[in-house]
Amino acid sequence: MNIFDVIVVGGGHAGCEAAYASARLKLKTALVTLSLDTIAKMSCNPSIGGPAKGHLTREIDALGGLMGEITDKTYVNIRMLNTGKGPAVQTLRAQSDRQRYSEVMRKTLESTPNITLLEGEVVDVLTEKLWSEDDLSQGYEFRVKGVALSDGRILNAPRVIIAPGTFLRGKLFIGENRYSGGRWGERASVELGNSLEKIGFEFGRLKTGTSPRLDKFTLDYTALSPQISEWRRETFRNYCLSEIPPRLLPVWQTFTTEETIKVIEANIDKSALYSGQIVGRGPRYCPSIEDKVKKFPGKLTHPIFLEPDGQTTRLVYIQGLSTSLPLMVQFEMVRRVPGLERAMIIRPGYAVEYDFHNPVNLHRTLETKKVKGLYFAGQINGTTGYEEAGAQGLVAGASAGLSLLGKPPLPLDRTNSYIGVLIDDLVTRGTEEPYRMFTSTCEYRLLLRHDNVALRLGEIAYEWGLLPEEKFRVLRALRKRLLIFTEFAGRTKVPAGCSIGEIQLKECVPLSELPKFPRVREDDFTTEVEKRLNGELAMVEEGEADGEVNQDALNRQALRHIYTEKRYEGYIARQMQEIEKVRKYEDMRIPDWLEYEGITAISLEGREKLARVRPRTVAQATRIPGIRPADITGLVLALERMKRNVKGSVSKIN
Ligand code: FAD
Repeated sequence: MNIFDVIVVGGGHAGCEAAYASARLKLKTALVTLSLDTIAKMSCNPSIGGPAKGHLTREIDALGGLMGEITDKTYVNIRMLNTGKGPAVQTLRAQSDRQRYSEVMRKTLESTPNITLLEGEVVDVLTEKLWSEDDLSQGYEFRVKGVALSDGRILNAPRVIIAPGTFLRGKLFIGENRYSGGRWGERASVELGNSLEKIGFEFGRLKTGTSPRLDKFTLDYTALSPQISEWRRETFRNYCLSEIPPRLLPVWQTFTTEETIKVIEANIDKSALYSGQIVGRGPRYCPSIEDKVKKFPGKLTHPIFLEPDGQTTRLVYIQGLSTSLPLMVQFEMVRRVPGLERAMIIRPGYAVEYDFHNPVNLHRTLETKKVKGLYFAGQINGTTGYEEAGAQGLVAGASAGLSLLGKPPLPLDRTNSYIGVLIDDLVTRGTEEPYRMFTSTCEYRLLLRHDNVALRLGEIAYEWGLLPEEKFRVLRALRKRLLIFTEFAGRTKVPAGCSIGEIQLKECVPLSELPKFPRVREDDFTTEVEKRLNGELAMVEEGEADGEVNQDALNRQALRHIYTEKRYEGYIARQMQEIEKVRKYEDMRIPDWLEYEGITAISLEGREKLARVRPRTVAQATRIPGIRPADITGLVLALERMKRNVKGSVSKIN
């Protein structure tokens, strides 16, 4: 019998971040997974980032997590998206070398102190019944004690994190064929699902799918257009500069044609998705090609991207052709795409259906409301995507560790991070279809930019013990630059007649005002400041050990921040005011024991929903779907009345 502080079940994207966060808090952590060879395996496309997901990746990095660092070490193609749009939606997307991503993650975890990697199948979650008034009043029925493995091993720990991805009673579908499995070639996790159900957890079914993998030597590249990688020095890591990988690879683009669509239409009744075999709901925003053909009849050209799976493999992933059609139909379909006429399918596309647990039954720490010390993270909470899983893993790992250390959880909320938005959405709204993160989900997106992640979250990460000293020193160096450059730009005047980018100044203006001119771009501002900074730079760099921070990159980062904050000053101020308003509600806490049935000023439906979700603050209550403004007024009045009567019985409030 082994005793750990924290046990993580599942070495996917959630599990790896969970184990790393817990280990960084110096807690003895076991990561148990079905196979050590598939740690952090990317089940679908080999890419990290993209709209909102790039933000999540940088936030994971800013909070001391691994996803950004491993992506930086393994990418073969990287691009900044939406550069023609505002700063809120600009974000990075990278293609990683799938195999290397997995290997580098495994090596990193293996060399991290406090982590023990174990191979095996967890079949049982061990719990004991709780009897104390205190625990029962908080809604807990059990306490977690550990896990049992199929080979007889028993591991004990006061905290257990469950992150089994699509494996929980997973079923794979290709046409009419159906197999038990969590992923292609990997067995499903059936007994773990049964064990959780025995404890009393209820599960729904969701589904997702992936596209066939091709042999890169069978593609006709003359018919494809390349998307060349950018040569970037600033990537997913916030606290240092990435090394440029030795070899970048292009992604190739093509489109479906009328011929491709005809094959799909003629065979759609053979698709597992449409033959009624799969009951779970699929991701609305990541549809299969069958879905696209059904939903957009008449549209013949759907874009297709051919993404290299890595530098040393022949596999190519087809982005945009996720399918569960029979294999022979997949061949027919693929070969009617320009450039793929002779393509060889190495691995078929398939759909997977799996169990998920509605996250509305979790606390904000991702601890279950039923079992004390038991946490759920990743796909099991109804999300889809590596980044969403990684973010939850980090929150669950840190929360589990911090609670053992008697410290408060990470203060992440909708006003400081995408991760805060993700967690808030999950625990207050729940989900009935695969949840993925979007920029539009985030109300304060001009404040929560991709470029200011470290400034938003670095101090939190350091204070809560997740960020090492050497990374924090980089953040301090950045803050020092912000102070000095802002002061310098405010007192330095640019004379009338001076040309800045495309404009000529009509009057003398302070450097700090240049970003307000619509035609002054970021580069114009940065160049102008850098040109005049010479004397100040020595002061900025004083005391910084050689090679510890990259001075040029940090200078540029600070100037970009100053430019963006000035240029969008008005919008930023408005969002700050909105946050202040929400904070008032955020400060209004709702006691765990509040009996909603007695508050007749809230509608019956409202009372039922509030009693089910049990929001911690009024702000959280406002975000529960179906809760009306009148319910919130009733709730606020009840809380205020309660405060006045301090010890009065809440059930009498109406
Ligand atoms: P996973 O990455 O699935 O990792 C789960 C881990 O748990 C695995 O290592 C497994 O071995 C381990 N495990 C399971 N049960 C046990 C057990 N009992 N004991 C020990 N270890 C166990 N996402 C998208 O965003 N877009 C897509 O289009 C998309 N398509 C997908 C298509 C397919 C076919 C699949 C399988 C997934 C797809 N995903 C997609 C989802 C994406 O892979 C997941 O969101 C992400 O990997 C979830 O991370 P996770 O850590 O929760 O689980």
